Amino acid sequence: MGLIDITQLSKAFRSRGAGLLYAIENFDLSIEPGEFFCLLGPSGCGKSTVLTMLAGFEKPTAGTLSLGGKPISAPGRDRAVVFQGDDSLYPWLTAVENVEFGLKLQGLSRRERREQAMTFVEMVGLARAKDRYPSELSGGMKQRIQIARALVTRPQILLMDEPLGALDAQTREVMQFELRRIWKETGTSVVFITHDIDESLILGTRIGVMTAGPRAKLREIFDVTLGEDRSRTNPGYTSLYEKIHSIVREEVERSRRGDGK
Ligand code: ADP
Ligand code: MG
Repeated sequence: MGLIDITQLSKAFRSRGAGLLYAIENFDLSIEPGEFFCLLGPSGCGKSTVLTMLAGFEKPTAGTLSLGGKPISAPGRDRAVVFQGDDSLYPWLTAVENVEFGLKLQGLSRRERREQAMTFVEMVGLARAKDRYPSELSGGMKQRIQIARALVTRPQILLMDEPLGALDAQTREVMQFELRRIWKETGTSVVFITHDIDESLILGTRIGVMTAGPRAKLREIFDVTLGEDRSRTNPGYTSLYEKIHSIVREEVERSRRGDGK
């Protein structure tokens, strides 16, 4: 049993005129504690569909998902979710108050809440901006606060759906570096969705490549055994990039021809 076990997962949507359309079919995956698992695949293949079921926002058509052996049937505090260009910060709360907010339900004193929130505000490098309101923060800073807010409740797993997708290239690079550092510091398990091969190679401990939809499943899982040098000057990096790139391209071609299995 892993931290996360997904077994024979299928998800169908009702489509206009065409009955049920299976976005995901017979998708299997196990994730161990402490992993930084990147789920990679072409746009529209069903990555977000898998994540929303892990988050408990949607129910599977068939199959099971479990976290720590317990079936996932609804959203829960054992999971934290960060979406692309997430802008769910409360505009009337400062940065640190936004992070604190997640702790309100946990019965901590004001002082304890502030202390714990500050630990994570510092971890994401925003101690000096702690009293700013969201409207006074850049996109990258807001995304850091989202991550701090997700981590402060100490979830068993952090679910991220293209969280850096809306950032400019430079900010994105900085955030990838920061995210990896935070993952190492906290030991939190992460499921990270991306369509960007480089991003998955920079961040992941394993990369699961999906087939193109409809009826998408996992095609292949790669162990990322690159150590710390995750740049194009590392021959291991470029060879893994090429391998993944060729199967992603096959999948994109397949979906363009419309012969998704
Ligand atoms: P990705 O995140 O990989 O880009 P999605 O999971 O968003 O892909 O979508 C996978 C497929 O499922 C797409 O064909 C999409 O149109 C379809 N889909 C996703 N959500 C819904 C929905 N709520 N209703 C109908 N179809 C959906
Ligand atoms: Mg998506």
